[in-house]
Amino acid sequence: MPVKRAEKTPMPQREATERASNFLEVNHGYTMEHAFFEAERCLRCQEPDCVEGCPVHIPIPDFMHAVSAGDMPRAADLLRTANPLPAICGRVCPQEDQCEKVCHLDKRFRSVAIGHLERFVADWEREQPLPPLLQPTREEKIAIVGSGPAGLVCAGELARKGYPVTIYEGLHGAGGVLRYGIPEFRLPKAILDWEIEILKRLGVEIVCNVIVGKTIKLDDLFGKMGFSAVFIATGAGLPTFLGIPGENLNGVYSANEFLTRINLMRAYQFPEADTPLKVGKRVAVIGAGNTAMDAVRSALRMGAEEGLIVYRRSETEMTARVEEYHHALEEGVKFNWLTNPVEIEGDEDGWVTGLKLQRMELGEADASGRARPVPIEGSEFVFPVDNVVLSIGNSPNPLLRKTTPGLETNEWGCLVVREGLSQTSRDRVYAGGDAVSGAATVILAAGAGKDAAAEIHENLSGKEG
Ligand code: FAD
Repeated sequence: MPVKRAEKTPMPQREATERASNFLEVNHGYTMEHAFFEAERCLRCQEPDCVEGCPVHIPIPDFMHAVSAGDMPRAADLLRTANPLPAICGRVCPQEDQCEKVCHLDKRFRSVAIGHLERFVADWEREQPLPPLLQPTREEKIAIVGSGPAGLVCAGELARKGYPVTIYEGLHGAGGVLRYGIPEFRLPKAILDWEIEILKRLGVEIVCNVIVGKTIKLDDLFGKMGFSAVFIATGAGLPTFLGIPGENLNGVYSANEFLTRINLMRAYQFPEADTPLKVGKRVAVIGAGNTAMDAVRSALRMGAEEGLIVYRRSETEMTARVEEYHHALEEGVKFNWLTNPVEIEGDEDGWVTGLKLQRMELGEADASGRARPVPIEGSEFVFPVDNVVLSIGNSPNPLLRKTTPGLETNEWGCLVVREGLSQTSRDRVYAGGDAVSGAATVILAAGAGKDAAAEIHENLSGKEG
């Protein structure tokens, strides 16, 4: 293999020109040979900072050791015990800011490719037979609201402890952002379907098309429906808008709507799938996080000739994962740094024709610690576009708070939980994931689901005695 020990074993991937026109997964994954070679690079540190760097504390050196010893069942077991969604996190976790950032090898060379190995082991596990069906052994029923990573992980952990668990999901497909947000070319839905199948084997029931707070009230879950505890994992799916003229024109989407139409409703398979999505020649996406990269790369795959990122700060302040940024560059996405939209222009029929942008310069750091963008007076210019996709942030939907007496939220609309716990202001109601933290990451949501399951179990077990 033509790589030096100092370098990470590169992830095999599809050519940019070939992949940018379809939704097939970009990365192929390691072979056994790659994995063995990469796991051998681990220094097996006495004090492995990578374990602390991982939000769910995967015992990384032990799992590396298992891979290099060829003991795949042990590697898979170590991984899954710490992280119930390894095939997903191995694909989408920002490892470069977590475990890999503090890898001791990184001080002189490149860190071990922990994320690529996580994906490799989890994909091996997916080839193995599914676990046998489990029957609940306890009487207390648990309801989970929302089927994103927080809800799925909490459900799995509680089902393993013997509780009958039902997940209520507002959309017609389970998985939260993993299904409706992150595109197929980064996270194939077959992976998510497999994780969900495992949950079903554990006895978890998933009921879709139920919006708690609308179809049923949260309090109905306790009363008529007889649940002993509820975990709220409703995420942060409410898009933020810019509040500039022209936002209501045809051809302007929130990234949520744009990606939901493509991923959950399969607009990319139109007309076999019943969801049209009008994507013009030039698409501008406002923002530079993971969602923005997913939106602009999806726009190219939906037929746009030009995909443009518009961001009011610079490349340094961008929040997207490095891998996604590089993939976007390779696929031909253009980046317009230090520009801020001030107006969306349209024609007499109400369709978008252009985006008026103002140039910015960077000033002092703001509350987020990043340099504050400052407008340059008189620098406006118009950029011709056919679509504008807004990807400037999300917050939790206020529906549950509005329909559940005594459920407290903070000034950002996030559910308030007791410090270090998942308990909300309501008895027997717990919460975690983006609904509590605001928009964050898959692994943090998964960790919150795991912690909440332990807390619910402890409280219910305590009540027994
Ligand atoms: P969600 O995944 O948002 O799931 C919440 C679920 O609750 C949804 O299915 C919703 O329909 C349902 N729901 C909401 N209200 C109700 C209700 N009242 N009744 C019933 N159901 C309800 N993170 C990473 O780590 N890496 C990435 O690469 C990455 N890329 C991303 C790309 C996109 C496009 C987006 C939007 C986010 C990305 N994130 C990424 C962030 C990550 O996906 C989220 O932090 C994570 O999914 C949050 O999990 P959650 O379970 O809290 O909520």
